[in-house]
Amino acid sequence: MSDLHPIAPHGGELVDLLVAGDAAQTLREEAANLPKVVVGERELSDLEMLANGALSPLRGFQGERDYRSVLDSMHLADGLAWAIPVVLSLTDEEAKRVGGADSVALLPAEGAEPIAVLRVSEIFKRDKQHEALSVYRTDDEAHPGVRAVQEAGDLCAAGSLEVLHLPEHDDFSSYRLTPAQTRAEFANRGWKTVVGFQTRNPIHRAHEYIQKCALEIVDGLLVHPLMGATKSDDVPPDVRMRCYEVLFEGYYPKDRAMVSIFPAAMRYAGPREAIWHAIARKNYGCTHFIVGRDHAGVGTYYGTYDAQAIFEEFEPGELGIQTLNFEHSFWCASCEGMASPKTCPHGEESRISLSGTKVREMLRDGERPPMEFSRPEVADILIAAMREG
Ligand SMILES: [Zn+2]
Repeated sequence: MSDLHPIAPHGGELVDLLVAGDAAQTLREEAANLPKVVVGERELSDLEMLANGALSPLRGFQGERDYRSVLDSMHLADGLAWAIPVVLSLTDEEAKRVGGADSVALLPAEGAEPIAVLRVSEIFKRDKQHEALSVYRTDDEAHPGVRAVQEAGDLCAAGSLEVLHLPEHDDFSSYRLTPAQTRAEFANRGWKTVVGFQTRNPIHRAHEYIQKCALEIVDGLLVHPLMGATKSDDVPPDVRMRCYEVLFEGYYPKDRAMVSIFPAAMRYAGPREAIWHAIARKNYGCTHFIVGRDHAGVGTYYGTYDAQAIFEEFEPGELGIQTLNFEHSFWCASCEGMASPKTCPHGEESRISLSGTKVREMLRDGERPPMEFSRPEVADILIAAMREG
């Protein structure tokens, strides 16, 4: 590895599972005659990230040894840090159809052409209860991540993947950069240090402030919105993307900041997902990663700072990406600027803070939140979306 730049992918090598040229034609012909399994939306997101190297060093869906090792120790069986299992679930009926086949064609939808071939190394029983308690710290089925695990098939098919093409998306194609492409883009711009920002929400002033604080100490900012499956009450991807676009248009330096899509599905696993998010962003070439309060959390399942604290459970250097922990921030009328409890000595009466519920209520009534809370361009997009929705 060269010194610090570019940052090495997790495990040392950026994986690329796409098969090209004549080999792809041969693989396509082979796939036509194999047992077929349709991959669900969430696992298709994982397949995309396995294929393009976002989940390096994984080369396929995990087997039972790695699965159990991740649940019990947040490490792969070979000792590399890893926080969330990446498995392909099978129902009993699908497992019957696969039978003892050593290869299976994976389909992105019923009746579609195969997207990949899985070289099956094993089929094992998913330990759902243990997985829920380890990864999500709860077995409450009201938790959306736990519910997704419970609703998945009881078995998992493991093995390496050979991928014919990335899943097709009919939206935002110019924003869908692979890890190799974001790395190339960072190099083009001469960025040696890059901070990644994970989001599944529109960006208001508080998060803009945090990103810009981080940008003060590095060369570039990658705003990396998650665009795989989310909860149905999260703001839809097209609305969020319009918000990011107006924000970048009006308020971000183009030579220092960029937006690209993170194709992952949301787990809502809080602390464990923060680790997983950080490792993936390292693979995209980020040297730094922002961890806010209740990162990747949902409801009241996780403590405010759990997702920041979990990074301390790893040895220094084990993850290779530097996390930047942030407090919640707000506009303070006495400071006359954005601030946080770390930097502002004033009381609540000086601070403009609105609950998520209050903001949604204002937007629904066609009312812009104060410009100290939300950029007016962003507020207008959200108001319009509420009207359409
Ligand atoms: Zn203040």
